[in-house]
Amino acid sequence: MSGNRTGVPQPPTFIAADDRIPFPDTDQVLRCRTSPDLFAIEDIHNTDKDPRAREKALVKAKHACSGCPIVKDCLKWALANPGLTKTGVWAATTKRDRTQLRKQLVARLGEDWVGVVAEQDRLQRERARAARVVPPTVRELALARLELEAIPTRPAPYNRWKEPITPAQAASNLRVLALVASGKAA
Ligand code: SF4
Repeated sequence: MSGNRTGVPQPPTFIAADDRIPFPDTDQVLRCRTSPDLFAIEDIHNTDKDPRAREKALVKAKHACSGCPIVKDCLKWALANPGLTKTGVWAATTKRDRTQLRKQLVARLGEDWVGVVAEQDRLQRERARAARVVPPTVRELALARLELEAIPTRPAPYNRWKEPITPAQAASNLRVLALVASGKAA
């Protein structure tokens, strides 16, 4: 999947996306794909009838992005690809917002901030993968065994010929004997 939007005029020359930060892969329905016009705010002009048409469109587009499941990764992609996001709303940002954010990233992470962010993402993915495949330690295995031993198992059925009589059974026998002695039991 790429960040291109159906219906949004594409740049006249081919601009390759920066593959260090790929556009997030998702099966979710994205509003910018189903309603691209909503995000092309530069195409919306204020009129006498509606002097705040663009402002209203911007609010709508930003609201749509705020509920998007991939907004965080979309923002990274949009910032890493200025040539492909010269216009429109991407991840609830305007062109001016994105320019400002890129300046802040350069100040914090240096000119190659895309490389730094891509490396951070790679390390994060690696850590997540490692957390899924690391085998349990000896201590973890020992603890798991202890836990299993502590789980009470179902007792074996009472064997009257092999095991001592329990206090409850003794009491029950006494009650039966007393009944027999009193002549109440047949
Ligand atoms: S955050 Fe906005 S621009 Fe980005 S994919 Fe989602 S709806 Fe589209």
